[in-house]
Parts: sequence; structure tokens; C-alpha cells
Amino acid sequence: TPRRSFVIIVGAGISGITAAKVLSENGVDDVVILEAADKIGGRIRKEEFGGVAAELGAGWIAGVGGKQSNPVWELALQSNLRTCFSDYSNARYNIYDHSGKIFPSGIAADSYKKAVDSAIQKLRSQEGNHNENTEDAAETPSTPKTPIELAIDFILHDFEMAEVEPISTYVDFGEREFLVADERGYEHLLYKMAENFLFTSEGKIMDSRLKLNTVVREVQHSRNGILVTTEDGSLYEANYVILSVSIGVLQSDLISFSPPLPRWKMEAVRNLDVMVYTKIFLKFPYKFWPCEPEKEFFIYAHERRGYYTFWQHMENAYPGSNMLVVTLTNGESKRVEAQFDEDTLREAMEVLRNMFGPDIPDATDILVPCWWNNRFQRGSYSNYPIYANHQLVHDIKEPVGRIFFTGEHTSEKFSGYVHGGYLSGIESSNALLEKMRRDDGRKNESQAFL
Ligand code: FAD
Repeated sequence: TPRRSFVIIVGAGISGITAAKVLSENGVDDVVILEAADKIGGRIRKEEFGGVAAELGAGWIAGVGGKQSNPVWELALQSNLRTCFSDYSNARYNIYDHSGKIFPSGIAADSYKKAVDSAIQKLRSQEGNHNENTEDAAETPSTPKTPIELAIDFILHDFEMAEVEPISTYVDFGEREFLVADERGYEHLLYKMAENFLFTSEGKIMDSRLKLNTVVREVQHSRNGILVTTEDGSLYEANYVILSVSIGVLQSDLISFSPPLPRWKMEAVRNLDVMVYTKIFLKFPYKFWPCEPEKEFFIYAHERRGYYTFWQHMENAYPGSNMLVVTLTNGESKRVEAQFDEDTLREAMEVLRNMFGPDIPDATDILVPCWWNNRFQRGSYSNYPIYANHQLVHDIKEPVGRIFFTGEHTSEKFSGYVHGGYLSGIESSNALLEKMRRDDGRKNESQAFL
């Protein structure tokens, strides 16, 4: 017999946990949370590596110090999360060429300015096309070709688009970013939140309403209710479901819907881009890189765009950890996910030897997270086309009958961020509470699905 609850929440990342908390605050405690992974957190996930808490997923609280306070920053302050300020602005002055020379700051600054101007020009021409709905592109900005141009293009587009277009996170919450450097992990915020409504003991969640290692494979829905089937053949019945799985999972065939989701929903899901972002952690016997704070971020200019370009030393966050992190995205992320870690280590070492000379020691350990090949993620975060029409966002989050959608990808202003996930959890649970009030009479009725 199916286990019955009033609401099922699929996924225990920041949006699912936040939605459950809001429901509980509104008297809806008859909730079951089904989570495919072995712990809560989703894309907020730390692993012990080289003696520190390596944040495989979200690492920064982005958007701090502005007009409004970032709610995730508030949560971090309440739980005394240890963070440290990240100053990316120096990265462009720490660009290494293949012979280990740092590009003179004048050249770097000029190249950077050129790239920003070109990106703005490109954006304007897209805007023009978008508004006029014509096919002719305006003057085409120059394509980056040299290693330094390619490196800057990568940094700009994959990290610093705020220099080119206004991004709500920075406009609303401020331009500062803080790296979470706490051995309890970024995920500590979720545990603190869960404590408010789930039974915990010694920091562990012991509540039978949270089902870990439980993979949802089918959602049957009708006017009367929801029936969820999990991979182990268990059935869960409810009046409503909140689905917090990522856009990548929605694009995959992990969960089937019966009847299928309507065409407008499927199309919206298909039209949203998925980004892959991979932080590779490397542990060394000792440091051989400059450790000053303004050298925290450094860049390697390779003839291939995005090839082990963006580096960070962990001395500011974890002094004495002898650790470097290199970030890959999209195609390069997928490529390294598909190869052996030894090959990735070899490639990274080759790049490091170009920067710091042949005598540096080999890394003693490597950690390569796989967000793309993780069937519970299928990517790192959503990316709306710059001129995403309002309709696309609307369709992504619009409920289908008794199925509600939440998660960072449903956040109009803050998609791709932890605070986007958090705010979407509040928004979608409030939409559900509203729907419950409308459906009112049915609330306490225990209706069988079939
Ligand atoms: P998730 O955390 O993905 O939660 C969804 C949950 O659903 C997951 O736990 C998943 O296991 C579960 N699930 C999936 N399929 C099923 C199924 N079939 N059955 C049951 N459960 C299922 N944001 C920032 O603000 N700052 C950063 O620095 C930052 N860096 C990032 C770096 C990386 C590498 C990644 C991957 C993300 C980063 N983000 C960052 C984005 C941020 O992590 C996400 O926006 C946010 O955590 C998403 O939360 P969510 O609740 O929407 O989704």
C-alpha cells in the first residue's frame, strides 16, 4: 500500500528544504521528502579532501554588501558560518603565459577592456535583433584569438558577466562575494534550517519524513491526487507534489510523467540551457605558487579556450592546506568527467609546470566532481538566454495541476544561485499554500488516487 501524505517534496536541496520549512511554518507538517542522494544538500555538497571541507558544488555566497541583504548571507550570519572575502578583481593582473611569465598589467588591462567593450557591443547587437526581430546582425565584434584574448574571453563570459550586463544578484544584493570556508560546509545552513521542522539528534536528521536514497521514477497525476513510484518500487500518494529536481534532470528521462507534461511545459524545459561548472581540487606536498591575498586567483592563457584557465589558491580560505582549485566549464567539464582522474591530473600538472617551472612537485591527490554525469543533477545550474522572454520563466515555474515546480531554475531574478534556490522554495510553497486554500474543502479529505 502506498505511503500517504498531504504533500510530497522531491529533492532535499536548498529549494526543497526551504519549501518544507515554509509549509511546516504554515501548519502543513504531513509532508514526505524524497531525496535520491545519500544526504540532503543537492548542489550544496562538501567532501573531506586533503584535510579541508572541499565544496564540490556551491562555494560562494554571491551578492553581499548592497542595498538589500541577501537572505543566504543572513542565514550564514545566523549560523556563524565561516566565510572569507573573495577579490576576483586582481585575477586579470595574474595572467600567465606558457613560459611562466605574467602578462604586464597594462597589456592585461587593455585586453580586458577590449573584451568588455566587445561583449557589450555583441549584447547590444543581440538586443537590437531581439527587439526588432530581424536576422541581420550589427557589426560583428572581433573574435578572441590569442591565448590572452581567449583567457580573458573565458573569464568574462564564464565568471564576470556582471561587467557586461546587469545581474540582479549584484544589483540587488551587492557586488561582494564570500567563499564559504567552514569545516561544517555550506550544507550546514541546510541542516540548521531542517532542525526547525525535522526531528534531529546530534546534528543528524532522524525524521521518518525524510527518505534518503529514494529515487523518484514516475509521477502519476490526476485531478484527484498524485502517485509517485520510486526506483525500489515503493509508492507514495499525496494531494500535491513539489518537484525541486534540476533542469538537467527534467530534460533527462529519469522521471516519467503520466499523463505526460503538457507541450508548453516540455518546450520550456527544453529551451533552458544547462551549464556545467567543475571545481577540480589538487593537493600538494608544499606550496610553490605566490600566496599573497591578491594572488588568490590566477589565470593561464592557453591556445585552447577554457583549458585549465582559472585557478585559485586556498591559502586565504585554509592556510597551510597546500591546495589549488582549477575551474573548468561546459565542454571541458564534460571532457574531464569522461576521462580517468590520472589523465586530468597529468594535464593539470603540465599546465602548472608551464606556469611555475619543471621542478614543482606532483599533486598527491585530486578530486574531480562530476555534475554532468550525475543522473540526479545533469549539470551545475540553469542559464537563461540573455533575452529570455518572460514567458519562458513563467512556463518553467507554472504548476501543472497538482505538480508544483521549484528550484534555482524557477527563480526569475536569481537563477543559478543558492539564494535563487532558497527564494524559489519560499515562492513555490506559498503558491502551493494558496492553491490549498483554493482547493480548501479537499484539504483533509483522504482521497485515494485511483
Ligand atoms: P538541488 O540542490 O539540485 O536539489 C535538488 C535535489 O533533487 C538534489 O538533492 C537531487 O539529488 C534531488 N533529485 C534529483 N532527481 C531526483 C529524483 N528522481 N528523485 C529524488 N530526488 C531527486 N550558487 C551560488 O550561489 N554560489 C556558488 O558559488 C555556486 N557555485 C556552484 C558550483 C557548482 C559546481 C554547482 C554545481 C552549483 C553552484 N551554484 C552556486 C548553484 C547552486 O548550488 C544551486 O543553484 C542550488 O544549490 C540549487 O538548489 P536546488 O534546490 O534548486 O537544486
